Amino acid sequence: MPLYLADYHTHTYISGDSRSTLLENITQAHRVGLSELCMTEHWNLLNQKGERLPTHYDFSPLLQQWEQLQDTWANRIQVRLGIELGNSTVDTAAVEEGLKLPELDFVIGSLHSMSLARDGVGIFTCAKACTDRTLALDVLEDYIQQMEALVEAGTFDVLGHIIYPLRYFPTQFQLSLEPWQDRLEEILKKVIESGKGMEFNTSQGSTIRQWIPLLTQYRALGGEIITLGSDAHRPEYIGAGFDQAVELLRSLGYRWVCTYRQRTPKFHSIM
Ligand SMILES: [Zn+2]
Ligand SMILES: [Zn+2]
Repeated sequence: MPLYLADYHTHTYISGDSRSTLLENITQAHRVGLSELCMTEHWNLLNQKGERLPTHYDFSPLLQQWEQLQDTWANRIQVRLGIELGNSTVDTAAVEEGLKLPELDFVIGSLHSMSLARDGVGIFTCAKACTDRTLALDVLEDYIQQMEALVEAGTFDVLGHIIYPLRYFPTQFQLSLEPWQDRLEEILKKVIESGKGMEFNTSQGSTIRQWIPLLTQYRALGGEIITLGSDAHRPEYIGAGFDQAVELLRSLGYRWVCTYRQRTPKFHSIM
């Protein structure tokens, strides 16, 4: 039986940093043999300049698209409605209100910006301009602190792309999250205890092996809830790197990948 694979991190033009349409994403997902696709548009509370964004998210354009395509595609591929929440701890109460939408299946908790104490500037912007490794380590420290706060707040189903800052700093800095291993252990323990999960984000197929330390740590702590996400901002990246990712998960002792219905994980065997 073919594996039940689902891309649980995808963007369309509604996110603002993609030009894809949902139809293009669904067509591609079906073409590459995925059984399910979750739309996870950006709902960021801070922009790259560190300015506050509206704490109310208008789900209507999303719902409209989703409903339109449900009718024509429902018997070929499942399409679920999710959201990628960025820096939700800026206003946890407002976010909790927004997450009450009954159609919402899945929430990724991401951190794209530094804390407000660090002016909330985007990690991408900061990393691309960074010439000083010490500054990079400061950003990572701030990032881990924010993740601790996010896990306390609990406004997510899976922690989004934990290795996110490592994507963007100069490679010659040779950064890793190893210095924060103990604190990540506490973070992951809380994730597991609260019935939440972690995403394995392939970053459009470009990061697979970078996940080995975290995936190993999470599994050793008993973590089983994993979603697979390509973070595709273009249709051709839907499902990118999933074959390798599944192979890696198996080799590290994982038996399942998850999808979500109404914020509840469903397990699909990868054996
Ligand atoms: Zn993200
Ligand atoms: Zn994303």
